[in-house]
Amino acid sequence: MEFGLTADHIRIQTVARQLAADFATRAAEHDRDGSPPQENYAALRDAGFYGLVVPKEYGGQEAGLLGYTIAAEEIAQGCASTALSFNMHAATLASLMHSALPDDIKKWVAELATKQGKLIAAILSEPSTTSIVPMTFACSTRARRVSGGYRLSGKKSFCSMGESSDYLCLFAHPEEIANPQTALVAVLPTDSPGVRFEHVWDTLGMRATRSDNLILEDCFVPDEAILGEPIPKIGEWLATNEPSFNIPYTAVYLGVGFAALQAIKDNVTQRQPKGYGQPLAYHPDIRRRVAMMSAQLEAARWLLRYVAWLADETYERQRYTDRPKQYGTTVEGQAAEVLATYFKAKYIVGEAVTAATRSALEMGGGHAIFKPSALERLFRDGATATMQHPPSDFCLSSLSVHELQLDPQQIQPPLTQVWE
Ligand SMILES: Cc1cc2nc3c(=O)[nH]c(=O)nc-3n(C[C@H](O)[C@H](O)[C@H](O)COP(=O)(O)OP(=O)(O)OC[C@H]3O[C@@H](n4cnc5c(N)ncnc54)[C@H](O)[C@@H]3O)c2cc1C
Repeated sequence: MEFGLTADHIRIQTVARQLAADFATRAAEHDRDGSPPQENYAALRDAGFYGLVVPKEYGGQEAGLLGYTIAAEEIAQGCASTALSFNMHAATLASLMHSALPDDIKKWVAELATKQGKLIAAILSEPSTTSIVPMTFACSTRARRVSGGYRLSGKKSFCSMGESSDYLCLFAHPEEIANPQTALVAVLPTDSPGVRFEHVWDTLGMRATRSDNLILEDCFVPDEAILGEPIPKIGEWLATNEPSFNIPYTAVYLGVGFAALQAIKDNVTQRQPKGYGQPLAYHPDIRRRVAMMSAQLEAARWLLRYVAWLADETYERQRYTDRPKQYGTTVEGQAAEVLATYFKAKYIVGEAVTAATRSALEMGGGHAIFKPSALERLFRDGATATMQHPPSDFCLSSLSVHELQLDPQQIQPPLTQVWE
């Protein structure tokens, strides 16, 4: 096993670090105002990051999930909201590139990002969605067949970066199919007639992601903008695609943890109590807490990098050999291993980051809870780490099935189910 970063990874990391240093200068302002970091999205485009996970044949950098993970960790240290919302663009492209969609469709979507510099938001969640039962991802948003395409109507929630994006990649239930879990994937311009946003995003953390509600009112999508065949069961599709969709998310939270570590190191090395000759960093309890943060975050980093590497290896093999027959990852055994390792990584990252950002705030004390303090902002952003999909409980409940080698068909639904 090779632990070193490649020359490409180091190049990507260096560019991401430079971007993050600039983003950091405006992060507090965007957080306070809940304003979209438009200029940061433009800088990411100019740095060629819109195509980071896109294969070279479609004009991308082919950095893989590992390369993206390294970049996201850095960007989040400058502005967590920019990293989390931009992640939706990267996660969409990673999932589509890993899918079994026909090459011409992949090329079309990839080149929107790489050649045309378009920003794509991924919009799946709806007001009634909960990961407690994946079936709730069945779309209430309807797609009505009309001449030359579909008309979409419904309401989506948590639409990070939606209003700043050029295109929306969203899911809807085609009315002509009886199974309510069937969903089609549509990619449509954000300024399409019938698209509007409800500004409801006034939250504890990740404020500048502007994850507002999206309303679709009889919005026309031509057949060319529907990606492939409908997905038969959206809950199952999501369950098998967790790694390509959520490894990038997880890296963002890891970056929040490392930003908190840096912020508290700066704080305790500069703060010297009156009447003492040393800064707080020499206090044994502070030293112990900082060491604990560092150890836990470093462990989380390497588990996440490991699963990103494992996923890249698996998908790369699929690309050239066992190409999946439909959306999703299907190589028996390998995909299960990636999935189980991902749940371990998200659980560890979520818990480590939430604990680290809290510990950093506590070490900063009352002085750290004022609004301009980076520790206060990182505490709020970090608080969303365990609850960001897949939440810690979800990771453990899914991992337990793999760990105990249980038959998923034999596991009872946790709540009474009305759909088959
Ligand atoms: C900052 C932010 C940005 C987002 N951006 C987007 C976006 O751009 N696009 C998008 O589509 N969605 C987005 N989402 C939505 C996200 O992916 C979830 O769909 C959304 O958060 C809905 O789930 P929930 O938070 O209500 O938690 P739920 O899934 O309802 O979970 C609530 C709690 O229930 C427990 N739980 C959940 N599942 C299980 C389980 N299987 N077993 C045991 N216990 C369980 C856990 O304790 C969990 O914390 C975003 C969310 C946030 C917070």
